Amino acid sequence: MPLEEYRRKRRFDVTPEPSGKGKSAAKKKPTGKPKAKALHFVVQKHRASILHYDFRLEWKGVLLSWSVPKGPAFDPATKRLAMQVEDHPIEYAKFEGVIPEGEYGGGTVMIWDEGTWTPLSDDVSRSLEKGELKFELSGKKLRGSWVLVRTRPAKDGRFQWLLIKHRDDWVSKEDITELAPRSVVSNRLLAEIAFDEGGNVQKAATGDPPGQIEKLLKDPAALKARRPKRKPAVWHSKPRGS
Ligand code: MN
Repeated sequence: MPLEEYRRKRRFDVTPEPSGKGKSAAKKKPTGKPKAKALHFVVQKHRASILHYDFRLEWKGVLLSWSVPKGPAFDPATKRLAMQVEDHPIEYAKFEGVIPEGEYGGGTVMIWDEGTWTPLSDDVSRSLEKGELKFELSGKKLRGSWVLVRTRPAKDGRFQWLLIKHRDDWVSKEDITELAPRSVVSNRLLAEIAFDEGGNVQKAATGDPPGQIEKLLKDPAALKARRPKRKPAVWHSKPRGS
């Protein structure tokens, strides 16, 4: 059961994250030989105990997941550490909001990028086993060809990989995390998501570029327009609705 570890770490009566027990998960195993078809990918910016970017690729009914502390880079010379973490349910790709403090991964989650990915090898399972997966991304921010290369197991037994951009037309020295810090589904900063969803705004804001927060604070119209969507139930770590 690929999602066992994911479920073991979470209390679904407290966190708004999906349990992965919905209809879309496990059952939908691809049949036959995997073809070069477009699959979903998502990058979730996550201000938990430390800021990181969760890079997730749809594969065989789950989201293969890596935690990338500094986020993706368009410069092939910049190799970004990517720690492999437990598989996540497919529905997780739609999650943007607040994980209650004290829960696993407590903090604010943003859908930083999403789109489709296409494997550049015929046999993805074998590429994953070998520790070298080449693929193309067609997202709103991330484009072009990339590779994930496994280096060695970390101290906790998890595998350490590097996320590297291949040379192509999309190569750039600019820092995409600074250039494009907002959600691709709601256009919000982390601080705005935390505010709307009843999370810790100050903590979330430390994950946004300082210049963006200053701009927001200087714009009274933008601040006035913001109202929390619902009561901040998550502050008390109680199950929703109680
Ligand atoms: Mn995370």
